Amino acid sequence: MTSRADFHTHTLASDGLLAPGDLVRLAVSRGLRILAVTDHDSTEGIAEALSIAAHYPEFTLVPGIEMSTDIPGDEIHVLGYFLDYQDPDFQSTLTGLRNARRDRGRMMVEKLHAMGMEIPWERVEKLASDGSLGRPHVAQALIELGYVSTFQEAFDRYIGRNGPAYVERAKLTPVEAIELLVKARALPVLAHPASQSNLEELLVQLKAAGMLGIEVYYQDYDHNTCARLAAAAERHGLLKIGGSDFHGFGSERERLPGDIPLADEAIDAFMAAGLRMTSGRRT
Ligand code: AMP
Ligand code: ZN
Ligand code: FE
Ligand code: FE
Repeated sequence: MTSRADFHTHTLASDGLLAPGDLVRLAVSRGLRILAVTDHDSTEGIAEALSIAAHYPEFTLVPGIEMSTDIPGDEIHVLGYFLDYQDPDFQSTLTGLRNARRDRGRMMVEKLHAMGMEIPWERVEKLASDGSLGRPHVAQALIELGYVSTFQEAFDRYIGRNGPAYVERAKLTPVEAIELLVKARALPVLAHPASQSNLEELLVQLKAAGMLGIEVYYQDYDHNTCARLAAAAERHGLLKIGGSDFHGFGSERERLPGDIPLADEAIDAFMAAGLRMTSGRRT
C-alpha cells in the first residue's frame, strides 16, 4: 500500500529527472497526501511544486532541501523542512554552494580529460539543467559517451570518494548546515543515518546544534534497521520521518514516491512540529 506521505524526493532542480510539477502530479496520482521536495543544495524547484500542489486542496507540499556536508572521511546529508526558502541570506549561501559545485564539477571533467576522456563541459551543464550540478551528472555524461556502462562503474572507477577523478565539494560541516537551516527557520533532520559510524555521538552533537529529527524509514532499510533507528530517535527525543529518495531514474531498484511505509503517528508528529514552526510566519 502506498504511504500517505513521502519526505524525501528530488527534481530537475538537482539530480532528479522530473520537473517539480510532474513530481507533484505523480505523487497525487499515487494517492499521496503529503510530499516534501528535498533537492540537493537547492530550493529552485519549490515555487513550481507549490503552485501545482495548490490545484489539489487535499494535498500538502512541504518545502524542503537536502544539504550536502562533510566530516573527515565521510559525507553527511542534512534535510531541512518547512523552511522560509525565500530568505535572502539562505539563498545567497545556496547560490555560493551551487557555484562551488559547478567549479568542482569542471575540475572533475578536467581530471577525466587528463586521463584521456573527452567530456564536453556544455553537456554536463546541460544534464544539470541549471540545477545543482553534481557527480551524478558527470556519471551520466560518462555513460552517454561510452566510457562506462553504469552509474556504479562511473563511481567505482573514477568519481567515487577515493576515485582518481574525484574532487571534494566546498566544505560545510553538518553543524554549519544545521545552523544555516535554523536561521532559515527550517526543521533540520539527519538523512539516511543507518550506515553512519559513531551515530550516538553524532546525534548528541547535531541535536545540540538544533537538529530535530532523523530519517528512520528510508528507501530499502529493513525492519531491523528501522527499529534500531526508531529506538535511537526515541532515546534522543528526535522526530522520526523518512521517504523514498525518489529521483525518477527509472531503475528497477528505485522506490517510487509513497513506497516507504511511514507510521501514522510519526507523520502526524512531524507535521504538527512543522505547523508550529510555520504558524505566525509571514507567507
Ligand atoms: P555530489 O553531491 O555531487 O558529491 O554527488 C553525490 C551523489 O552522488 C549522491 O547523492 C548519490 O546520489 C551519488 N553517489 C555517491 N556515491 C555513489 C556511488 N558510489 N554510487 C552511485 N551513486 C553515488
Ligand atoms: Zn540525489
Ligand atoms: Fe542523500
Ligand atoms: Fe536524497
